Order: sequence, then structure tokens, then C-alpha cells
Amino acid sequence: MKAIRVHAFGEPEVMKIETVADPKPAEGEVVVAVRAVGVNPVDTYIRSGQYPVLPKLPYTPGIDAAGIIETVGRGVTRLGVGTRVYVAGARSGTYAEKALCRESQVHPLPDRLSFAQGAGVYVPYATAYRALFQRAQGRPGEWLLVHGATGGVGLAALQFASNAGFRIIATAGTEQGRKLTIENGAQFVLNHHAPDHFEQALTLTSGHGVDVILEMLANVNLDRDLPLLAKNGRVVVIGSRGRIEIDPRATMGRDSAILGMALLNTPEADQITLHAAIGAGLANGALTPVVSHQIPLPEAPQAHHQIVESRAHGKIVLRT
Ligand code: NAP
Repeated sequence: MKAIRVHAFGEPEVMKIETVADPKPAEGEVVVAVRAVGVNPVDTYIRSGQYPVLPKLPYTPGIDAAGIIETVGRGVTRLGVGTRVYVAGARSGTYAEKALCRESQVHPLPDRLSFAQGAGVYVPYATAYRALFQRAQGRPGEWLLVHGATGGVGLAALQFASNAGFRIIATAGTEQGRKLTIENGAQFVLNHHAPDHFEQALTLTSGHGVDVILEMLANVNLDRDLPLLAKNGRVVVIGSRGRIEIDPRATMGRDSAILGMALLNTPEADQITLHAAIGAGLANGALTPVVSHQIPLPEAPQAHHQIVESRAHGKIVLRT
């Protein structure tokens, strides 16, 4: 099969398409014929060698994908050959024509969704669910600010939150992005490049403050997020690409909390919960991944340039 291989960490161009042996499923494993691959920012951090945990070289990148189960190993009972699935991590990396997964890493993909949409499910929706419900313990009726709502995680958060009954303020960097956030459930949208958008958010809540902030770029926004929070407010640091100075005093009078998260830390019981929530939402139409670009697998370097250099309008997906 064809797969993207990385022999040395570095620029996007270190990713090359190569022919490698087809994976064979051992006990408890399945092989998925991959139709589409989800590109996530973390794939770029790992490829460049700038991530706390790095794979052994050479490796095939990728966590997200969607496709059809092609073969199953002994003891696999939950899903059979021919099932459409979204992939939540793979033993072999997903930037490939086939992915070797543990049975627990594949989940049904309803017919209403394309494979490209299925490739945009796991990291974005699991992260959004974990941040909003498991870390922030968000509750319907609360004010939510999705700070950076046009990417994979932000749009997933809008869909979860609007279906659950939050009052939602989104931010976006472009006009097209602002339109997209309203289409996906935001009631209000602000431009995160406007210096006064923090004050505008506070005004929208009539001075109550925001109960939950999902923060995609904490190194830019965290210091000005803190005074926005309501009493007992929570900010979840989902994305951060550098350092920032904050005033801890801003948390004191509000009894507010700054909560970090890494999807990889999710305990098994919480993973079962979030896949159940995602599965239900995909099946009943509450959750619909937004695909912005589809790029052929051999052009993976272009996708990595695009995800860090361009404004987001949904997911970038590779097609096998
Ligand atoms: P993405 O699709 O590339 O989207 C990036 C988002 O950041 C866009 O909505 C973008 O908005 C927004 N952004 C740009 N400038 C901003 C600013 N000044 N303030 C607020 N937002 C701004 O990425 P993603 O998949 O949604 O992931 C978002 C972040 O979360 C990334 O840093 C990623 O690495 C991280 N992440 C973390 C975890 C975890 O486990 N902690 C899991 C998944 C993702 P515009 O393009 O409209 O300007």
C-alpha cells in the first residue's frame, strides 16, 4: 500500500509517499481501508519534532481517518468487515491507504456522513466534548465563549453547545469564518483580531461575564480572558503556541479556574462517554463535520502548510 513516511523531523516536505507492506491484524485488531484522513495541528507539531512525545523514526503520521473495515483479527466482535467507521487513532498512523487499529479505536460512521466528514470526527469532537463537558463541566444556559471557533475543534464545540442549550459567543478571523460560526450554532460572533472584542463579549452578557471559555490560542488571549469570566467561570486551555504573562489576581475575586487539557490524557471511562455522545450526535444529525479542503494524500506537505498558514473554515482532509 501507499503511505506517507517521515524519516527525519523537519519541514512539511519531509513527508514522502512510499510503498510499504500492507498491515495484518493481530488478535483484537482491525485493518481499515482508509478513504479520507483528517489533518490536525498536532500532526504538524510532531512532524517538525516540536512535541513532548515523538514517535520513533521512520513513522507514518496521523490520528484521524474514516474508511471501511477490510479485515479483522481474532477476537474482534464489536464491528465486522464492511462496516463504515471513523478512526480514533491507529497503531500504524492514518496518512496511508490502510490503517491498523485496535478494535476500540474504530467507531461506526453513519451513512448520512461522507468519509471526508468522518475523517474530521475524532480529534475535533472528542477535544470539544472533553473541554466543554468533562473539564469545564459546562451546563445548559451558561454563557460560552468559543475563542477561535472556525477550526475543527471550534466548530465541533459550537455544534455540541448549541444542541445542549448554551448561550454562545464565537470568534473568527475572517468574514467567511464568522458566517460559518453562525451556521454552526453561535448566537453572536466577534472578530478575534479586533482589540476590543473582549469588552464586546462582556457587553453581550450584559456584564454577567462568560461562564466558560474554550481557548484555542492561550498564548495570545489568556491574560485578557481572565477578567471576562463570571463568578466561578472556567477557561479551558485547548491550544497555546507560546508563553504569556497573566495577572493571577484576576482569578481571585471570581473564584475562577484555568484548566489545561490534552486529549491523550482522557481516562478510558471518559473516552467511552465521549464516543457515545459523538456517536449519538452523528447519527441524529446534531453533529456534522465541516470540510473546507480535500487534498490528495501524496500532497500532504501542502496540507501541513495550509493548516498553520491559512485562516480556518473547517477541516482539511487528505483523500487516498
Ligand atoms: P485549526 O482547525 O487549525 O483552527 C485554528 C483556530 O484558531 C481557528 O479557529 C482560528 O481562527 C483560531 N485562531 C487564530 N487566531 C486566533 C486568535 N487570535 N484568538 C483565538 N483563536 C484564533 O485547529 P483546531 O484543530 O481547531 O485546533 C485548535 C487548537 O487546539 C490548535 O492549537 C490545536 O493544536 C489545539 N488542540 C489541542 C488539543 C488538546 O488536546 N489540548 C486537541 C486538539 C487541538 P481563524 O482562522 O478564523 O482566525
